[in-house]
Amino acid sequence: MANPIVIAGGTVVDQLSERRVDLLLINGVIADSGEPGTFDGRGESVDASDAIVMPGLVDIQVHFRTPGGEESEDIYSGAAGAALGGVTACVMMPNTIPTIDNVEIVSDVLSLARTAVCDVRTSAAITVDRAGERLVDFAALHHAGVRVFTDDGWVVDEADLMEAALRETLGLPGAVISQHAEHSEMVAGGVINAGSVAERLGLPGRPREAEAVIVERDIALAAKTGGRYHVLHMSTSLATEQVRRAKHSGLRVTAEVTPQHLILTEDDVERLGAAGKMNPPLRLTEDVAALRTALLDGTIDAVATDHAPHHPDLKKMGLADAPPGMLGVETMASVVWDTFVNGGLMTRQHFVAVTSSQPARIASIGEHGQPLTPGNPANIAVFDPAKTWSIDGSSLQSKSMNTPWQGQRFTGQVRHTICRGQLVVHEGVLTN
Ligand SMILES: [Zn+2]
Repeated sequence: MANPIVIAGGTVVDQLSERRVDLLLINGVIADSGEPGTFDGRGESVDASDAIVMPGLVDIQVHFRTPGGEESEDIYSGAAGAALGGVTACVMMPNTIPTIDNVEIVSDVLSLARTAVCDVRTSAAITVDRAGERLVDFAALHHAGVRVFTDDGWVVDEADLMEAALRETLGLPGAVISQHAEHSEMVAGGVINAGSVAERLGLPGRPREAEAVIVERDIALAAKTGGRYHVLHMSTSLATEQVRRAKHSGLRVTAEVTPQHLILTEDDVERLGAAGKMNPPLRLTEDVAALRTALLDGTIDAVATDHAPHHPDLKKMGLADAPPGMLGVETMASVVWDTFVNGGLMTRQHFVAVTSSQPARIASIGEHGQPLTPGNPANIAVFDPAKTWSIDGSSLQSKSMNTPWQGQRFTGQVRHTICRGQLVVHEGVLTN
């Protein structure tokens, strides 16, 4: 059992309110909250002066590469980076080697995750080996703890399979079908957004409409079946309109966006090279504007990073040949805070909603993203809104260094992270 911890001097920001209170943590839960100074001497004091005390961030799309890709990342390096980024829970994607598509692999992965510094959950594939032919055993996987199902990396092309997946998960509490929405024939061979930069560089493109075609179809299937549907890493204005309409119709549809799609465009790809390559690709200025509007008006529910480490040797292969993906789990809090809260676009409570409480609800992670009130689990990030730092890929905790934010300065940084009542990051450093 952990020693009692007192989080002292900060401003608690959660879905209920903003308030100047100290928190007393005992045995993994918030035992009490009270006026500043109330709990002095009752436990290890953690300094939150001039800082925001919020529910730990929840990143519902990470690739920690276990099993099979451990040269780029593993559960432990991924979770350590997450903790440094104030993330107390994350959901791994199943595009591993082998694919996370059965109960045995899920149990193996979850037993490894037990000793990670933050709470690591896993999704499972929708189709066996993500081959798009046969559905997985949803009920068995749900029983093993899986709530998010996705063939991420690939799309589920077949409408019949998608409809059956939505139907089969209807009776499984908290289950959600998540889609990497890019029509595979439309993006075949494509490297970056189909647009002026791809033309200038002579690279095959991935058209924006490839996302809209899948999202439109899937929303129709969600309407037909009543199933729960989630759009992973949404990237275009077209899809924001579709999801907005679906929500207005009362469908059980949610969406997430990555920090990079909220800030960078195809024009940045020329500067970033392979570090600017991901699927779906960075898009247009008008897409960034539409994604921001959608995040601010509630059309997009969550920010998720699609944290996708690749060993430096792989990213050295150049824009055309390097694998797609960017790091994100350690930098999300700073990048989103600086851009949106410091930028005057978003309230602090809305920041908590899109980085913690709403993603936790999408992935049905009940122990995270909860109000910081007595009785709730102690999963907490203490965030210093005034601390400025410069991101350097080689200094990040990840085994890889493919950050799109190399050399950029951001204001706002995680100071401490408490996961399951344990102080896992103290003054910006992992405690063990
Ligand atoms: Zn994806």
